[in-house]
Amino acid sequence: MPSPEHIAENLALVKHHMAQAANAAGRAPEDVRLVAVSKAHPADAAEAALAAGHLLFGENRVREGEAKWPGLKERFPGARLHLIGPLQRNKARAALDLFDVIETVDRPKLATHLARLMDETGRRPDCLIQVNTGAEPQKAGIPPGDADGFIAQCRDELGLPVKGLMCIPPADEEPALHFALLAEIAGRNGLAELSMGMSADYETAIRFGATLVRVGTAVFGPRGGNP
Ligand SMILES: *Cc1c(COP(=O)(O)O)cnc(C)c1O
Repeated sequence: MPSPEHIAENLALVKHHMAQAANAAGRAPEDVRLVAVSKAHPADAAEAALAAGHLLFGENRVREGEAKWPGLKERFPGARLHLIGPLQRNKARAALDLFDVIETVDRPKLATHLARLMDETGRRPDCLIQVNTGAEPQKAGIPPGDADGFIAQCRDELGLPVKGLMCIPPADEEPALHFALLAEIAGRNGLAELSMGMSADYETAIRFGATLVRVGTAVFGPRGGNP
């Protein structure tokens, strides 16, 4: 793992680039927040970022989050955690307990299950709907053509606290097209949050309206083969 000083420097650098990209797009820098993706890094790495004053994080696995975050949240009560990976229904209850935002609501069965658990538990973390903008068969997310209907189902029928959309563009395509598509779907559905952009393309995502960028490698270094 990079030293705590190095992680603090990386955070400052990414935030500087984010502000530059926002300014260049005529947007207010404070309208774009950094989700520091600590997946596959030890709790010490997240702690270095917390100690540097950063409070917003992303994990892609419920179990890894459960192993790492309860202790960190106790010591840094302002910390907020986003789930950015696929959610299985048998982990949904644990996810509601641990995460402050679930970015990956991606199918009707999961949405229905989350709505029921929210009623049962009273825990209502904000939800983003993951859109499979590239319509890739192996990738999670609602297909773009089904997005409007799914958003309406989640928000109006199930009463989920849907705040916005999230996407992971195909690795081999120009991400800007996917960011533009996600922004268009959000716009016509009146959704404010757009979670898009990772280490390689967060500045482009900000140009296309991202309000949340999910950055791992540029903050914590490479993950050593674990995707
Ligand atoms: C791992 C991951 C990221 C961070 O990717 P980097 O390229 O390391 O910045 C962002 N979003 C999701 C959904 C991820 O799984």
